[in-house]
Amino acid sequence: MMKRKLATVVLAIFICSVFVVTGSAQESIVSDYPELKPLVDFVGEKDLSVMDLVGYKAAEKAMEELGFSKGDPNVLALTDAGYIANIGKYSSAGALNGVMMTAGVSRGEGNLVNVHRGCDKPLWFAFFDKETGDCIYLEVNKGNLKSWLDKEAAGTVDLSAFMKVSADALFSKISKENIDPDELITEEGAKAWNHNFVNKTFGGNEFSIVTISAVWSKGISNEFLRSAEFHNHICPGLTSGYFMTQYLRENYPLEKGEQWVVWSVPPWCKDDAFQQIFDSTVGKRGMAVMYVPGSVSEKLAPEYKNIAGIYIKIGKTGEAKAIVLGWDWEKVCSDCGFARKDFKGFDSYKWWWVRLRSDVVLMDHEPEEYISVLMVKDLGNQGSVKVMNAKWMAVGANPLVELGIMPKSETTSIPTPTPAPTKETPSIPGLGVIAAIAIAGALVYVAKRKKRG
Ligand SMILES: [Zn+2]
Repeated sequence: MMKRKLATVVLAIFICSVFVVTGSAQESIVSDYPELKPLVDFVGEKDLSVMDLVGYKAAEKAMEELGFSKGDPNVLALTDAGYIANIGKYSSAGALNGVMMTAGVSRGEGNLVNVHRGCDKPLWFAFFDKETGDCIYLEVNKGNLKSWLDKEAAGTVDLSAFMKVSADALFSKISKENIDPDELITEEGAKAWNHNFVNKTFGGNEFSIVTISAVWSKGISNEFLRSAEFHNHICPGLTSGYFMTQYLRENYPLEKGEQWVVWSVPPWCKDDAFQQIFDSTVGKRGMAVMYVPGSVSEKLAPEYKNIAGIYIKIGKTGEAKAIVLGWDWEKVCSDCGFARKDFKGFDSYKWWWVRLRSDVVLMDHEPEEYISVLMVKDLGNQGSVKVMNAKWMAVGANPLVELGIMPKSETTSIPTPTPAPTKETPSIPGLGVIAAIAIAGALVYVAKRKKRG
């Protein structure tokens, strides 16, 4: 028994000594760069990557330029790293580690915003200090970084050499501007800042950075921040969706087994907030979209002109209720102090100024000031979400007619000489097509006859 114990101890000492020898043989990058310790501790020495260090370098440069230290509660970091902004075939997700561990920001703390961008978009970082209003933007030089990532993939990268790459070489754009929201929401402030939009000072990400930073600095809920990440900016359209989710939860709370299904009629930015907050995603059949063209909306009764969407509360048994909400854009404009046509002022500062201004002003208002309940209707048993959507939001169907929001005769722009055959299926697309072909045929016939005549 004693012999066995002794053998175990000897073996343990031997194993430990082997580890110490091999460990000390490999020099840690931390001995040359002690400031990397938090990052190396987080990812592990053997998993430390070029992309981790890109995040470190962005944060380090920002801390130097803006003069803040790790964990400063006044600082917000924004980046599209990992969401998705690839560098060629390489993911940029690792850069998040470097930003987090160096600047001391995280999603958990609500001061790291992962801005959604397409897979081929440039990789960028921005840091905003709400105390000074200063913001620094760093956009990665794709060509330079890719050469390092290629080396890493081939197993020949020297991370110490990468550490020596200057910020000016790694980043193709580094720009610093003041984006103090209190200044930018004034018309004079917006006019003075507009050249930054024109010159793409933040690489074309000005609207994302300025709007998210502004609302964050005023205090933003986690739900709204997550919606802003997904939507990649904050606009009054997204705010309207956030307000509607809050309104529905407050006034029509879900009961056990129930879920929200959104019929986005018509769609606008709000629907990204619904997908994020209610998880009512298109792919999971939680949302169906239908446009309301101007020719249709102008025929809607005045009380329905503000229609924002149809929100279905459906239970496990299939019992469903439709709540139709309206959104008052005119009141938004008058409360924020600009004309509605300014939303379309794309040839000047106006388009972004009115959006930023409403983002900030609306934060001091309540959802019920702008939302109206246009209709609440029991839909009875709809079977299931899939069956219900396939019926009400099918190609050729018109939920506005079915709900009695608009008269049947206004349902379609295709002239139909005969009424639809049954009450249950008011608009079969096939019939419309046949009718259109028939009419077209008749017109061609008439035209040919005219020509001959
Ligand atoms: Zn938007």
